[in-house]
Amino acid sequence: LLNQIQVQELVAEGGISGDIGPLATSWLGVPLWVNEAVIGLVVVQSYDASFTYTAADQELLSFAALQIANSIFRRRATSALHEVNAQLEQRVEARTGQLREQIERREEMQRELKHQVMHDQLTGLPNRGNLRSRLDQALDALQGAPARRCALLYLDVDRFKIVNDSLGHLAGDEVLKEVSRRLLTCVREPDMVARLSGDEFAILLDRVDTAETATQVAARVLGAVNAPLHVAGEDMSPSASIGIALGDCTYLAADDLLRDADVALYRAKRLGRNRFEVFDETLAREVVDVLGMEGALRHALAHDEFEPYFQPLRRLSDGELVGFEALLRWAHPQRGMLLPHQFLRIAEDCGLIEGIDWRMFEMSCRAMAGFDRDDVFLTINVSALHLGRPDFAERLLALLSRTGLASHRLIIEVTEGSLLGDPEQVRRMLHGLRELGIGAALDDFGTGYSSLSYLHSLPLSLLKIDRAFVQALGEGEHHNSTTVVAAIIALASALNMQVIAEGIETQAEHDALLAMGSTLGQGYLLGRPAPLAHWLQSSAA
Ligand code: C2E
Ligand code: CA
Ligand code: CA
Repeated sequence: LLNQIQVQELVAEGGISGDIGPLATSWLGVPLWVNEAVIGLVVVQSYDASFTYTAADQELLSFAALQIANSIFRRRATSALHEVNAQLEQRVEARTGQLREQIERREEMQRELKHQVMHDQLTGLPNRGNLRSRLDQALDALQGAPARRCALLYLDVDRFKIVNDSLGHLAGDEVLKEVSRRLLTCVREPDMVARLSGDEFAILLDRVDTAETATQVAARVLGAVNAPLHVAGEDMSPSASIGIALGDCTYLAADDLLRDADVALYRAKRLGRNRFEVFDETLAREVVDVLGMEGALRHALAHDEFEPYFQPLRRLSDGELVGFEALLRWAHPQRGMLLPHQFLRIAEDCGLIEGIDWRMFEMSCRAMAGFDRDDVFLTINVSALHLGRPDFAERLLALLSRTGLASHRLIIEVTEGSLLGDPEQVRRMLHGLRELGIGAALDDFGTGYSSLSYLHSLPLSLLKIDRAFVQALGEGEHHNSTTVVAAIIALASALNMQVIAEGIETQAEHDALLAMGSTLGQGYLLGRPAPLAHWLQSSAA
């Protein structure tokens, strides 16, 4: 509360700065308090000398200032609130954005995870679980539609293990990837190609009208898979075996259809591979439960139910007997005489084959030792795993001396697959055997992947041309197999190996082989496998 003199003193002291204009005669100011801080002044001044402000005016102005301060405070509060709200909103939005991103990322991860769970890493194809759920859906859709069918093609790459073992896993992977690409070219939406495991694939045809539709696809698939393939510096022509099962409304679960297709596949492989078979009920009866079979095999080994049959190997020119191949038979007490294909795979899988083989070797060597023609040799089928056993030669030698068969009368038959395991070890093994006088024959030649030049580096004295080539000679497709067989015979003789043609069933095949220069043969035409007693009688006769 100032009069003019006090105002002038204040200006002189610098308490008031700037342009103060015409001097007031008296001045009244009260502070504006907002939130316990002075934010300004409310001021009135008079230019009339007769007028002065009083304490009552001060009180009044203080009241007015309070009102002003209140309203400023409220205004500030609401705008602060707005601000806070706006900030809040902004933060919520930002956070929502982040969350949305996180959710999207998580969904993406879930999709990826689901894809991984449902797909095979190597080929990117749907996997078994995926196939099964699709198959379940397909079978569901068939319920109540008795006329409709779906088809499942169960496919196995032939001799894939040989590729893997000989060329390495990377090459094996390449083959599998290429096969999966080829399979995809054979189908269209909504059919599904899946990889079930290792070298097993499946194709689900959602809707087929007849079995022919499925077999046409199967034929197309075989053709596509057969195309030449170059992997790890090797040219190969892959092949596959296919089992087909047709699903209709009588199938309730995916596993039932898978099982039937697998049964058909097993049959396709047994009948010589690179082919397809359609499941039917007669196949179902052939299905044996594996566990029961294992027990039965163990029992059979302990109770001597295995026995060798002998199939003659003959000179083609005059039918003269030169040797016998010992072939495994199982005299099953209930099911009669069983052939190797009915139990051999299970015996291999459960590790019983080694024991069975030794039992066979023992019995066939003993039998042949009693067949007193020194010029007739015996061949035995030796599974791959024997060649990996360091004491195999020693054991065989002990067996020969025990049974009394001269070592030069024994030839072991091995397949290409068994040569590929550890080539150096196999080479040593075969050389060791040769030093003991025991020869080695290559069985099923022509069905595997190896080249004759590789085989040449091994001490093999005999080459058995696979039945498939011989049978093709009799069929119209003369040309190709004639060339192949003629080439094999020529090469073998250049490499100092003898050749036996397997599976001769007709005179025409016999004559064709003879004309091509094949000297030895084996087959139903020349004699079916039989107990040695049968051959003893006929030779006596
Ligand atoms: P493999 O070594 O190729 O034996 C020849 C197979 O062809 C035999 O079948 C024989 O009966 C059959 N065969 C012979 N001539 C003809 C013919 O003219 N036409 C036809 N269609 N078939 C003919 P089997 O006895 O059923 O033996 C099948 C396979 O089982 C053998 O094929 C061999 O790989 C294996 N095997 C046989 N005996 C033994 C054994 O003691 N140990 C092992 N590990 N495997 C064996
Ligand atoms: Ca054989
Ligand atoms: Ca053979």
